[in-house]
Amino acid sequence: MPRLSPDEMRRLIRECLEAEAHHVELPDDVEGRFTARVQPAADGPSYDFNLAVRTITRDTRHAGVWVHRLKIQATGLEGVRHLDALLGINVFGGEPVVTSFDVARHIPVTGESNNIQFPEAMIYEARDVGRIVEHVKDNGEPVAAVPGMLLTPFLLGLLPTAPLSPDPGAVVPPPVSFRTYRARVRSPKFADSVLRLHQNRCAACGVGLDIVEAAHIVPHALTGDDAVENGICLCPNHHTAFDLIDLVAFSPDRRIWVNAAKLKVLERAGDQTHGMVIVLSYLWPTLSAVAVDQAARLEHRFARQTEDPEEWQPRSEMKF
Ligand SMILES: [Zn+2]
Repeated sequence: MPRLSPDEMRRLIRECLEAEAHHVELPDDVEGRFTARVQPAADGPSYDFNLAVRTITRDTRHAGVWVHRLKIQATGLEGVRHLDALLGINVFGGEPVVTSFDVARHIPVTGESNNIQFPEAMIYEARDVGRIVEHVKDNGEPVAAVPGMLLTPFLLGLLPTAPLSPDPGAVVPPPVSFRTYRARVRSPKFADSVLRLHQNRCAACGVGLDIVEAAHIVPHALTGDDAVENGICLCPNHHTAFDLIDLVAFSPDRRIWVNAAKLKVLERAGDQTHGMVIVLSYLWPTLSAVAVDQAARLEHRFARQTEDPEEWQPRSEMKF
């Protein structure tokens, strides 16, 4: 995930707004508070939005250990209370995704506007499903993940204000209807079938011991796919390594890949165990005799996880 320069942020925001607008006016500097004038349709009204844009970065909490959360740093913003929205932006797998925060709700909680954290999964859901994904955090703060090309309709949906240059003949787009982001729902039937298919053993290390769990290959939040083909049986360590911190991935040929870059970060943080990645994968060959093919789902997930191929190596080629 690149850290964007102010110029890149400005270019990306412009691209996103122009995807569904006839005309967009932006100042040179978008990091501080600024006004964007957007005219959705030729000959239609234009609207002013009070915005600020920051880069989305990873939320590395302790000693650089990866967590499955992203953040934007909102320190030092002037006049935040008067913003219509504080936007975060970055590129994920080549696609720009924007987050939107209601800073008026954030400031009373912290006393000032600093880091705003949000779940990483909502970014990928917005990107892959092409929909606006809204999430309400535990403290009641709303955050929305918006695919870049939907930024203009999203902003129009936020504003109750009248257009700046009303045109009686103009058709104003209706507000965007939000889809609420929900924690994934676990289906007991799905878990039972997946565990049975894998003979109750972790597909990465072979551990059984009745502590294994059923994980979704294509995240349930994306497609709601509860077919047994979309399941993989993992021990809690490998479930975390696969689902939450993207430390391991499984290629469609059932080989195990490790994110070497993250492993180095863990080592620097004092973790010398490599416990989570000492993997055998001996259970996979027995699965090939079963008439259940997980390859298509693995391919989908593997492509997403290994977006940055330089970070990943097959487990068999890693030197510890
Ligand atoms: Zn395991």
